[in-house]
Order: sequence, then structure tokens, then C-alpha cells
Amino acid sequence: MNTRIVALLTLALAAVTVPAMAADQRLNVIATTEDLASIAREVGGDRITVESIARGYQDPHFVEAKPSFILKLQKADLLIVVGRELEIGWLPPLIQQSRNAKVQDGAEGYLDASQGVRILEIPTGQITRAMGDVHPQGNPHYWLDPENGRAIAKSISDKLSQFRPGDRAYFDQRLTAFGARLSEAEKKWLAMMAPYKGTKVVTYHRSFPNFADRFGLDIVGYVEPRPGIPPSPGHTLELIQEMKRQNIKLILVEPYFDLKTPESIARATDATVLVMPPSVGGVKEAGDFFGLFDYDVTLLVNALKAAAGK
Ligand SMILES: [Zn+2]
Repeated sequence: MNTRIVALLTLALAAVTVPAMAADQRLNVIATTEDLASIAREVGGDRITVESIARGYQDPHFVEAKPSFILKLQKADLLIVVGRELEIGWLPPLIQQSRNAKVQDGAEGYLDASQGVRILEIPTGQITRAMGDVHPQGNPHYWLDPENGRAIAKSISDKLSQFRPGDRAYFDQRLTAFGARLSEAEKKWLAMMAPYKGTKVVTYHRSFPNFADRFGLDIVGYVEPRPGIPPSPGHTLELIQEMKRQNIKLILVEPYFDLKTPESIARATDATVLVMPPSVGGVKEAGDFFGLFDYDVTLLVNALKAAAGK
């Protein structure tokens, strides 16, 4: 065999074997939501593979368990969860049935992303059933604040470095780059929202307290009478009266809720219904963590501009 053929063969073999080996070495990460998957992708780069279980257009409290989810969990090195009981209705049996010791609650490959983030609405006093689906560990929709996104990225980076100490510098560098990009974007989003500080809105579910807190909205009521409880005529009437009294013109609705009640409230109050995704993948334009805020902030600003011009 002449050297040229040997060289070509070597090249051909390299082309076949090297990517396959690299793929095997990548950490297999599963995130419960597309938001966490997006942030993990930013930090993990080409050293990990990431998939999410819930889709962004689904209600993350109620995800239909599928056998394919168990298969994903079986092969996972790391599972990242939102925590604060967001996934309590569907995730524990999936983890158990995966029989993967690595990703059981408390194991090294189980990361609760809510550690180290700012959590709102932590209830004080006794919680009763009458309060509805109240989260005793606070509101779990905390990712809708860029600053919490930063904290989530840090937790993920630390965990990835724990698994792959040799790649620590790589993850650190990506974390820094993500943080810098986020700071720039956040400045832009805050500037866009600044003229509307203190705007009163109503939301369907309690998905937006962190978003409202960061961007200066004032949430004064909910279409749901209590978290997880469908609208009732009595509550809807009270809400209409309150919206009229406070002159509230905006109702934010997550994409997975029925628009019938919000639209009837809007008709009664001359308000606008905005379908606003709380998650990456909630609409196709919100393709990643940055796209989610880009989409939501632009949606709000356009609606508020239109309302001001009325
Ligand atoms: Zn909730």
C-alpha cells in the first residue's frame, strides 16, 4: 500500500471514529423544561447533549407521562429539574420507573435548579386544601427573570464541572459569555419596559410574578380563582369589577389555557388578551432563553403602546 492510500484510509477512519467517540463522551443531560434545556445548552456547549421532557407550549404542572420519557431518563447522566414542586404531579414516577440510580432525587446526577435563585410567594402560616394548588416552597415559575437565569446557569456550570473536572475552564468560559450576553440583553429589555413601569395587569395563572417584579408590572388579579382551579362565574364577576375599578386593560394568558373566559372578561372591561408564553418553545419565535424574553417584552411593549394610543 502506498503512503497516499494509507493516509486516505487513516483520514477516512478518523472521520468515522472520532465523532462517534466524542459523542459517547458527551454528558447526556435531560431537563424537565425547555427553559432549563436552553440554559444548559448555553453552558454545556458541545460537551453535552440536552433534551427536555415537557414542551414549552404545555402546562408544566400537568405533563402527560409517556414511555419515551422513561427511556430518556434511563440513559441520562444528569437530570435538571425546576423543583419547588412544579413537576410533583408527573416526574417522580418517571424517575422511579427509569431505575437509573444516577438521576434519583438526591443522587449526584439530580440537579434542582431552584437552589440559589430568588423565589417569590413563599407562603407563611398553614397551608390548607381550600387555598388550591398553592406551592409550599414558593412560586416555581422563577425562570422568568434574567437574573434567575444567571443563577441557574451557575448551578448547571458547577454541576457539569463536577462531572467533568477536565472541562471546568470550558464551562467557566461559556458561563461568563452567557452572563455577558444576558447583561446586554437585560439592559435592552429593561429600557424597553421602563416607560410602562407600574402598569397593572391580570394574568391567568401565577406564572409571571418574577417577570413582573423584574420588569415593573403590577399583577392585581388572576383569571383562576386559586392556583390550578378553573375560572368560576363568581370569581370572574369580581375580577371584572376589580379591573373596571382599577382601569386594567391587559390580561396575560399562558398558551395552554382556554381563551373563552379571558376573552369574555376582556369584552366586559374593554381590555386586551395577550397570549404570552412563560417558556422557551411556548411559541416558535421563543426558541431559546433570549428569544423568550425578546418575544414577551416585544409583545407587551407593542400592546402597551397600542393601549396608550387608544
Ligand atoms: Zn404554577
